[in-house]
Amino acid sequence: MSGKTFDVLVVGSGASGLAAAVSAERAGGRVAVAAKGSLQSCNSAKAQGGIQAAFGEDDSPEQHAEDVWRSSHETADMRLVEVLTTEAPGAIHWLEQLGVEFTRENGGYRLARCGGASQKRLLQVGDRTGHAITKGLREAWAAGSGTSFEHAPLRALEQREGGWRATCGEHVIDAGTVVLAAGGRCYAEAEARGELSTNHPGATGEVTRIALALGAEARDLDALQYHPNGGAWPANMQGYSIPETTRAYGAVLLNAENEEFTDSLGPRDAVSQAIFDEVEGGRGVQTPDGRPAVWLDTTRIPEADADISLPYMLRRYRAAGIDPLAEKIFTYPVLHYQNGGLVIDTKAETTLEAVYACGEIAGGTHGRNRMMGNSLLECVVFGRRAGRAASEKARS
Ligand SMILES: Cc1cc2nc3c(=O)[nH]c(=O)nc-3n(C[C@H](O)[C@H](O)[C@H](O)COP(=O)(O)OP(=O)(O)OC[C@H]3O[C@@H](n4cnc5c(N)ncnc54)[C@H](O)[C@@H]3O)c2cc1C
Repeated sequence: MSGKTFDVLVVGSGASGLAAAVSAERAGGRVAVAAKGSLQSCNSAKAQGGIQAAFGEDDSPEQHAEDVWRSSHETADMRLVEVLTTEAPGAIHWLEQLGVEFTRENGGYRLARCGGASQKRLLQVGDRTGHAITKGLREAWAAGSGTSFEHAPLRALEQREGGWRATCGEHVIDAGTVVLAAGGRCYAEAEARGELSTNHPGATGEVTRIALALGAEARDLDALQYHPNGGAWPANMQGYSIPETTRAYGAVLLNAENEEFTDSLGPRDAVSQAIFDEVEGGRGVQTPDGRPAVWLDTTRIPEADADISLPYMLRRYRAAGIDPLAEKIFTYPVLHYQNGGLVIDTKAETTLEAVYACGEIAGGTHGRNRMMGNSLLECVVFGRRAGRAASEKARS
């Protein structure tokens, strides 16, 4: 075991952890990132659909906040939501400064409407938005002088005089403040339930358990989100999250009778429930290997939109022998996202002194039901806040 001392220790290297680390360093702190695997392995890099920010002509941060409130069934913490939606445009410009190039058209951003949204508000980088954002953040982190500990999972955290001592793999790390950015637990939860998940194998939730054991407060931890459109066939697409932008660009859900049975752009929980109900009611279809499913009629997506905003999804399906622009595809909900998490204030501090949390591990911003595109946004907005505040507190 080797001992090291920093101002700020960030646990996790997804979008939230990297945003926190870059911001903490830019605020003057000596910063370390500890990740369970390589810096690249995380859920953030898998995100395809996009990131929300109110740039549309008839849109506003207030309207964005109103949509979050409604989609959360009035359970979100509105102090956090106001921060999220107000700082969204600034977060996008910050990412652009880091080299992220959002898809543009007609002199502005190409915006899509996502489930539960009253306006077109979803910015995209093709359909590899998370990949582009994490790449930009990783390059910014690598350009600084922070220290990365890879393959160094957090195993223990204890309070010490003036800060915290963390055991991360073989390293013992002392830091004035700690930012927990270790994501959710849907991979482990799906495994325990014998279900499919969209998540990365690192999404197992032990960091939340460590914080809870130290007395941190949490909220809505029982509220797990199903992505309405998991791939159901062919077998190698099972658990793939078919981007919600398929529906934003015209795809609709159909039952065995080819009838639309729900608003395909409703809030995620409502759409998933409608699919479960349809199958339960005997109006679903079966995949060739006997799994329950309904149809996603992707043939309604204009080819030009698909070429610009869904190239990765098309490539994946076509490589598997199915052309989604020529035939409907099988879909069924899959376990996707931990809506709740550690309670934080507007500076992203948890109820534990000098311990911050951002990204999927934190709760409140989405209440019990997240809208698509708000998770990457939460990572950047609250990652930056957590990094700055953790750096300032450690150095005060
Ligand atoms: C397939 C898919 C598509 C998605 N699409 C979108 C989308 O289009 N728009 C959107 O807004 N959201 C989307 N999401 C959700 C969003 O991507 C994630 O919720 C978000 O990126 C989580 O970021 P994070 O930084 O909190 O966690 P992650 O990106 O999951 O990163 C967690 C990090 O913590 C590390 N870690 C875990 N445990 C430990 C430990 N014990 N010690 C040290 N490190 C640890 C992991 O290795 C990883 O580095 C999608 C998610 C998935 C899975």
